[in-house]
Amino acid sequence: MNHAAAPLAYQVIPSDHARSDAQREALLAGELGFGRIFTDHMVSIQWDKAHGWHDAQVRAYGPLALDPAAAVLHYGQEIFEGIKAYRHADGSIWTFRPEANGERLQRSAARLALPQLPVAEFVESLRQLIAIDHGWVPSQPESSLYFRPFMIATEAFLGVRPAQAAGYYVIASPAGAYFHGGVKPVGIWLSRDYARAAKGGTGAAKCGGNYAASLLPQQEAYANGCSQVLFLDPVEGRYIEELGGMNVFLVYRDGRIVTPALSGSILEGVTRSSILQLARDRGMQVEERKIAIDEWMQGVASGEISEVFACGTAAVVTPIGQLKGKDFAVGDLDAPAGAVTMAIRRELTDIQYGRVPDRHGWMVRL
Ligand code: PMP
Repeated sequence: MNHAAAPLAYQVIPSDHARSDAQREALLAGELGFGRIFTDHMVSIQWDKAHGWHDAQVRAYGPLALDPAAAVLHYGQEIFEGIKAYRHADGSIWTFRPEANGERLQRSAARLALPQLPVAEFVESLRQLIAIDHGWVPSQPESSLYFRPFMIATEAFLGVRPAQAAGYYVIASPAGAYFHGGVKPVGIWLSRDYARAAKGGTGAAKCGGNYAASLLPQQEAYANGCSQVLFLDPVEGRYIEELGGMNVFLVYRDGRIVTPALSGSILEGVTRSSILQLARDRGMQVEERKIAIDEWMQGVASGEISEVFACGTAAVVTPIGQLKGKDFAVGDLDAPAGAVTMAIRRELTDIQYGRVPDRHGWMVRL
């Protein structure tokens, strides 16, 4: 039973089919891609209304046993996080602002009527997995171990109400450098037919349903040669919100850097908030406000906006070369990535990989 602050005691059950050092090294030396290879173990913690959080385990990575009536399968009561472990040159393993992800998981839980895992337990769950699977943190440039913490409603009950039992899990996947052969600007598709979120909806939460809703417009983006979708605000359809899985920044020639204000339907990215800080440190004028899509199109056309980029944990900072829609295209995919974009990208990765002092105290050793 764990209602109070007493830390959860973990039972560690090493996998009896863990891969050998040689097998692991061979996998890590190959093409890692993203989200295809998983480590030997996972964390699981159970929750129910009567007992609170309990039964914390580190055990073999493998299928979950779920009752077919489990609420998650019917009403989508699910939330998740994404955060990385980085190997530094001395071999030590670090993560980036894990409390921010732990707090976001709590906010997502509140919105989806799931139980809140204490932030200290969130950080501890990452530590527990690294303690046994540290060999899976790759060491090639810009590689990392991507953690996918998630929570699902497990109660076997078909009534539509918050489930009284849930499970929290952490799996991990070694990830290669996002850009091979140098960072390359991408094309973005403006979705006018679909919204990712609704007023009063779940846009600010990291829940699976938001991503399910983004897949059809994402398909439209691919069909038009773009790699991500830009969503507009769900009320007026006039203001920029974010991409399917990243936040957006505009850089003005006069030294301003502008990003959409948190509207209630945007996911509050940890990368976004870190970039706002780094931009302030550089003496840039930072604005978080409403940005009309017309401002982007006209600003790029007139040259007033000199750079546009997207940001998120997976790709860190991605230059946006072109914005396309049904009847227009602005920007140039072949233009080189902007200087401010690349400087901010470099600064953030230098901190994450321990190449410069961590002056904001963002790195946490696992
Ligand atoms: N927006 C959405 C919709 C996302 O899925 C993500 C990725 N978590 C982000 C923004 C960026 O968030 P972060 O910087 O915390 O990865």
